[in-house]
Amino acid sequence: MFRYSYILFFLLWIIHVDGSSQTAYQQRQSITKTSFNQWYPQSKPNVPPFKPSLIKEKCTIVIDPGHGGHDVGTQSVSKPRYQEKSLNLVTANFVKGFLQQLGYKVILTRQTDKFISLDKRAQFANDLKPDLFVSIHYNSAPSAEAEGVEVFFYQSKDDKKRVLQSKKLAQSVLKNVIAHTKAKSRGVKQGNFAVIRETKMPAILIEGGFVTNDNEMQKLKDPAYLKKLAWGIANGVEEFWNK
Ligand SMILES: [Zn+2]
Repeated sequence: MFRYSYILFFLLWIIHVDGSSQTAYQQRQSITKTSFNQWYPQSKPNVPPFKPSLIKEKCTIVIDPGHGGHDVGTQSVSKPRYQEKSLNLVTANFVKGFLQQLGYKVILTRQTDKFISLDKRAQFANDLKPDLFVSIHYNSAPSAEAEGVEVFFYQSKDDKKRVLQSKKLAQSVLKNVIAHTKAKSRGVKQGNFAVIRETKMPAILIEGGFVTNDNEMQKLKDPAYLKKLAWGIANGVEEFWNK
């Protein structure tokens, strides 16, 4: 009888140990879950993690900062005079940085203050065969009232696909620039500019604002505003490319 009691006691002890170890296991599980839940929301990134493979999937873009060298473009009426060629180059560099951040390959037609003819800019792009071409300019008008952003594409009967894609790119870039700058939209327009006429890939020319409008010029002087404009251009490209 003593022997059987001993065996029974031993069996009860095993069940107890097994039960308590189950509880410890469950506790461990719930602790792990809690720690993970505590950690996860904080470490959740705001942007998707950078994938090197994105570079291959994304496109090459030629950015063309208008004018340069002795060709200053337009300039502000009020002093000190701001020259369009400089605003174009600063904006183009911001656009380049943002697009690279988004995984695009970017090449500028000029990186310094030098003169390059319109034909050479178009030829440069056609030789490189990028996926997109974006020319950056600022505007002027005899009327000091004129203000806002407009984006041009070249209308032709020869390459309907290029025309359609250029128009879509122009719409996407304008929409995003207006959203980020809150500037007045002057719309997407047809334009007969050499750089968008002579290039063979989808191409647009953006006029980012009027240096002859005092209010707009005040904004254009501020690099933070040009960054918003550039971020709008980059996001417009991104929206177009992801469609
Ligand atoms: Zn210009």
